[in-house]
Amino acid sequence: MTKPLTIAMDGPVGAGKSTIADAVAQKLNILHLDTGAMYRAVGVGVQDKGGDIYNEEEVCALLENEIRISVAYENGAQKTLLCGNDVSHRIRTQEAGTAASAVSRYAGVRKSMVALQQEIARTQPILMDGRDIGTVVLPDATVKIYLTASDEVRATRRMNQLREKGDNTPFETILEEVRARDYQDMNRAVTPLRKADDAILVDSSDFTFEQTVQHIIDLVEERYAKS
Ligand code: C5P
Repeated sequence: MTKPLTIAMDGPVGAGKSTIADAVAQKLNILHLDTGAMYRAVGVGVQDKGGDIYNEEEVCALLENEIRISVAYENGAQKTLLCGNDVSHRIRTQEAGTAASAVSRYAGVRKSMVALQQEIARTQPILMDGRDIGTVVLPDATVKIYLTASDEVRATRRMNQLREKGDNTPFETILEEVRARDYQDMNRAVTPLRKADDAILVDSSDFTFEQTVQHIIDLVEERYAKS
């Protein structure tokens, strides 16, 4: 019997994972789980409770006792819930990204998010994007993609997204932020971001959005046909 399709997509901040993953999942008619949203919700939840995101013990205790993260789907679109409240929009700030990067370093946080992610993947075909999907969450994924682009291209894309929201943060600041997030994600002690040995590297620096989506779909179809 053919195994349900699971796609793991990892890569650094600003590589376009979320939007690319959304488009690929839609074309393949499967759900997309944005796991970064879950870590963002943890960060926002800790701050809502007046907790210190740099205090591991406090964060883990809050997550165990007071903060509940869950996801729901509405017409195929993911809603990220914090204690039952939809925080999908609130978690899209730079500040929430930085908070996510801080709390995602803690083993207790990762353990509980990974368990939730694996549970979601157990029952349905899915495309998951994050930092540790191919290495930890779905080590047996049908297809693993490591999506990246140069620092400058990622910072430019980030800047354009922020401009659309009326945020005029200078390019240099965004570039520094991208590099700082890379450093934090790639050098943390617990499951740092790295390409799984069997992941396919996709560098989207010189691709348009549509070309990247099509390239990934071609890779998935080729691998899935063989599995
Ligand atoms: O993908 P996004 O930028 O929304 O993720 C926010 C942060 O959450 C990342 O910088 C990373 O530190 C963390 N993260 C993680 N593992 C994942 C997804 C996100 O550590 N699977």
